[in-house]
Amino acid sequence: MADYGADQYRWEHGILKGHEGHGCSWDQGGRAPCPDEERRHRQQSQKQHDSKVHGHRPGYGMPHKHRAQETAYQEDCIAAVETLLRGIGEDPDREGLEDTPKRYVKALLELTEGYREDPAEILETQFDVPYDQMVVVSGIEFTSLCEHHILPFTGKAVVGYIPRDRVVGLSKIARVVHVFARRLQVQERLTQQIAEAIQEHVEPIGVGVVVTATHQCMTIRGAKEDMDAKMTTSALLGVMRDSPDARAEFLALARTNGGHK
Ligand SMILES: [Zn+2]
Repeated sequence: MADYGADQYRWEHGILKGHEGHGCSWDQGGRAPCPDEERRHRQQSQKQHDSKVHGHRPGYGMPHKHRAQETAYQEDCIAAVETLLRGIGEDPDREGLEDTPKRYVKALLELTEGYREDPAEILETQFDVPYDQMVVVSGIEFTSLCEHHILPFTGKAVVGYIPRDRVVGLSKIARVVHVFARRLQVQERLTQQIAEAIQEHVEPIGVGVVVTATHQCMTIRGAKEDMDAKMTTSALLGVMRDSPDARAEFLALARTNGGHK
């Protein structure tokens, strides 16, 4: 386990309260009676917890890391960027580049901060509203990184859902888009993950997501005719997929409000 060492340390110092604060069965608390006895249980539940909450499916996030480990990783990352700079024929020690590796790693961490956020938490606050018509949030701008080139792709998302009996705040929908955008992504998976998160945590009758984006790995490297190329993807779940009327209504609203011309 990635963070077993730190838990072991904390147990030895009598401060282990279980795996902190993410609602897995290990959270139930109290000091662990014995690390050997508990190890198997913990590895088991940690494994389930990781794949459930953070997911080991691609782009679904990774297990959280302890701060000391993160600092060590960041130092490794900074050294790796220095290597990259040398690889393109630069001198990482020259004045202008002195802090570039550090800045680059910081920027990369910001652009991938979605790994460290949990859509379940964002969508936790819900309001009981007897409303069964479509809710559409459009013009949600985002920046993501394509996982093939680690270059940005930027665009807009339209998210619509038909509530069962609960709705969530508009800003929460936008935040969910950002949680998944701020990871290494392919646009198809980004679109699907936004829809699935809303389906799972808000449990609407149906949900639809349309994403339109421009990929720099194409526009800044490709031929001139690729410069303005945009890609559109959609994910439809529940009645948004199964009912032709709901589907048509959502896609029409997405077209007029989506900003994808
Ligand atoms: Zn790419």
